[in-house]
Amino acid sequence: MTYKDCKIVYVFNEEFLKYDFGPAHPLRPERQLLTYKLLEALKFFEIDRIRLEKPEMATMEDLRLFHTSEYIERVKRLSELGYGLLDLGDTPAFKGMFEASAIRVGATLTAIRLVMNGICDHAFNFSGGLHHARSNQGAGFCVFNDIAVGIKYLKRNYPSIERIAVVDVDAHHGDGTQYAFYDDPSVLTISLHEDGRFLYPGTGFVSEIGTGTAVGTSLNVPLPPGTFNDAYLLAFNEIVPTALKTFMPDIIIQQFGVDTHFSDPLTDFMLTNHVYAKIAGTMHKIVHEICDGRYVILGGGGYNPEATARSWAIVFSKIAGVDLPEKTPAEWRDFCLKKYGIRTSDTIFDTEYHGPSSDKRKFLIEAVKRVVEEVKERVLPLIPERK
Ligand SMILES: [Zn+2]
Ligand SMILES: [Zn+2]
Repeated sequence: MTYKDCKIVYVFNEEFLKYDFGPAHPLRPERQLLTYKLLEALKFFEIDRIRLEKPEMATMEDLRLFHTSEYIERVKRLSELGYGLLDLGDTPAFKGMFEASAIRVGATLTAIRLVMNGICDHAFNFSGGLHHARSNQGAGFCVFNDIAVGIKYLKRNYPSIERIAVVDVDAHHGDGTQYAFYDDPSVLTISLHEDGRFLYPGTGFVSEIGTGTAVGTSLNVPLPPGTFNDAYLLAFNEIVPTALKTFMPDIIIQQFGVDTHFSDPLTDFMLTNHVYAKIAGTMHKIVHEICDGRYVILGGGGYNPEATARSWAIVFSKIAGVDLPEKTPAEWRDFCLKKYGIRTSDTIFDTEYHGPSSDKRKFLIEAVKRVVEEVKERVLPLIPERK
């Protein structure tokens, strides 16, 4: 089999747009539609081996796999009320919040099911990746943690799955997912993110390695503000493939937040979307090498909707093995402008970029090398090797 034969599913529904904290909130639900419209305009859904699927709603039983009944009831109550807060202020309640959140969890479960039942090799749900939510509280724009529910769902329904790995490349630490499985040796969580001393949620240090029998199954790579393409790829390539090839999971779930982009208003990374193509390419190769291609790709952060849509289209094209044209389709540019007043780039890959100065680059590369060395010395040797 060549990669060009892989079967791909893209889970999408306009219901995703209802996950909306209001016009002043930085999380823009329209990025889901912008991404879908871009893939549609690129005619990717006309390719035989690429399928568009509607998500199924997560049931109460599904949500209870990870979340407490009390918390689910609280979300329901606030959802009917239409106001209130799920955390200290980042995650306000809105009318219909329960359904809007449950469909996103359902979409991740749909993606998992289609991969596990052999309907496809790789499945995408860019509405998922809500990695901050805890079992008993919302956090950081995340109501339910679809990744944690998805892992519990895999463990309950597919006993052949003995090991699961999560690769989280969002600019923020994947704290909710990490702590959900902090004492579970069958789940390896890897998170590359901006150093918690500078960015929410303030955790994700190298010293967070898991507990009890799960020591070595929590891996964190905190990177300095200003991290740019070469520095980021150095960290990713030195650590992630080795960690995955040691742990040898049966399936990989990736949280593919793209708030690491240089244009992102909430974070301090300086990546261009070329990096996402490289990460996707590396991950695609790895999943075929180690877990029979079983790969679920979720979304996450990305607070410049236009850049997010182009970034996710690049991730999709790379994993699906389809070529991208140089230019963004005119019908997509028109759609973004007419419907949302958003001006878009003429090219899919970033062309305008002013990264750090060369002195700053040298400093950043050195800083990243130190983090990489620390992870190599203190964490990689602890990862439980698969016999
Ligand atoms: Zn493939
Ligand atoms: Zn984020």
